[in-house]
Amino acid sequence: MHVTLVLTHACNLACSYCYTGEKFDREMTWETAVRGVEMAFAERRPLYPWQQPEATPIDLGFFGGEPLICWEMMERVAVYARDKALREGRVLRLAVTTNGTLVTAERARRLRELEFEVTLSLDGTREAHDATRPQRGGQSSYEAVLRGARHLIEAGHPLEVIAVVAPGNVRQLGASVASLADLGAKQIILNPCYEEPWGDDDLAAWEQGMRDAALVYADAMRAGRVVAMPTFDNKLLAAAKGGLAGCDSCSAGEREVAVSPQGNLYPCARMVGEDRDHRLVIGHLDTGIETPKVKAIPRGPSDPACESCAEKWRCGASCACANLAETGTTNVPGGVQCWYEQASARIADEIGLRLIEERDPTFLQWIYGRVADASAAVRANQEAFQNETPAQQIKRVRRLPVLSAAQASNNGELL
Ligand code: SF4
Ligand code: SF4
Repeated sequence: MHVTLVLTHACNLACSYCYTGEKFDREMTWETAVRGVEMAFAERRPLYPWQQPEATPIDLGFFGGEPLICWEMMERVAVYARDKALREGRVLRLAVTTNGTLVTAERARRLRELEFEVTLSLDGTREAHDATRPQRGGQSSYEAVLRGARHLIEAGHPLEVIAVVAPGNVRQLGASVASLADLGAKQIILNPCYEEPWGDDDLAAWEQGMRDAALVYADAMRAGRVVAMPTFDNKLLAAAKGGLAGCDSCSAGEREVAVSPQGNLYPCARMVGEDRDHRLVIGHLDTGIETPKVKAIPRGPSDPACESCAEKWRCGASCACANLAETGTTNVPGGVQCWYEQASARIADEIGLRLIEERDPTFLQWIYGRVADASAAVRANQEAFQNETPAQQIKRVRRLPVLSAAQASNNGELL
């Protein structure tokens, strides 16, 4: 179970696409945060059948508003959770998503000491970022975020960036991905804002931006450097392993829960909003998760058009909160998301085939090597699977193999 603590509704930015609602001062108390940590530690279901419960990682995330507004609280909770994990012999993964403006050199070092995985929101070039992520007073936040990014790099964090793609910044997309790669990003997560009004011109610019971004991705591979981009990686990995596994689809409420400052439980952090619409609440820290409410969440993609779709086998339009934002239902993706799924698959295949034809070793290891590693894990644990059908195995193991890296190097026709 991945537990995210939404520490506050407050934020110092005013992003054009922000889904968290009104920015008011309501912070999580220490008592609520500790109970959220206890809930994360209570989960002992192993990810893999051969794992001991103690080896099951505990995922604890911090979110907002802007979580670093509550720096002292976040640090205190992280120390508490780290001490508890040490005492109990558990593996703890800490993560925070931040707008970066409040990251100082000292905080970056402290986040590193506490072994946080930090994801920074930065929309790319100055022009792209200023179009969508101004400060609350309207001034640019770009320099402050860039400063934060540099502090993180200097402290030794691998730079992971979320760049939101919206009509206001999409014409900069290719340049934005190039600028983030130049900054040293190890991972660039392009988060589309499906619910914005997208015109035909915007979609054309988006497609061109993805093509330009794919060239940045490929050029980095050719230089021996991986700039992970889930936009392409997820499609290529799905192709390499023959489809999506159960754990690739949305896990809102099942393997993921968010705790609001008041202690209400939501299926994911994005659904907390102002914590006023309780139709999405699946429980409270006082009473725990109400399983019938989780089971009642419709899962997709389940539009009738999906049945005959050639891309269904690796379509990622199952995200309940993305669907909710675009169509008002958790299981039906809208037209923009459907367009994106098909366009990104096309572009990923084009760039993937080119890199395969070039026998690019970094690419082959990045996609097919990881699949092969999972294959070895399956083979080494055959007894754990002996009573399971292949379909059940796919659900249990993230990446069931189709090809090894060595096979990939010798065979040009893979996808
Ligand atoms: S930084 Fe995050 S919470 Fe703050 S306005 Fe932007 S999207 Fe909303
Ligand atoms: S690409 Fe579109 S039509 Fe195809 S499965 Fe996904 S959402 Fe459905």
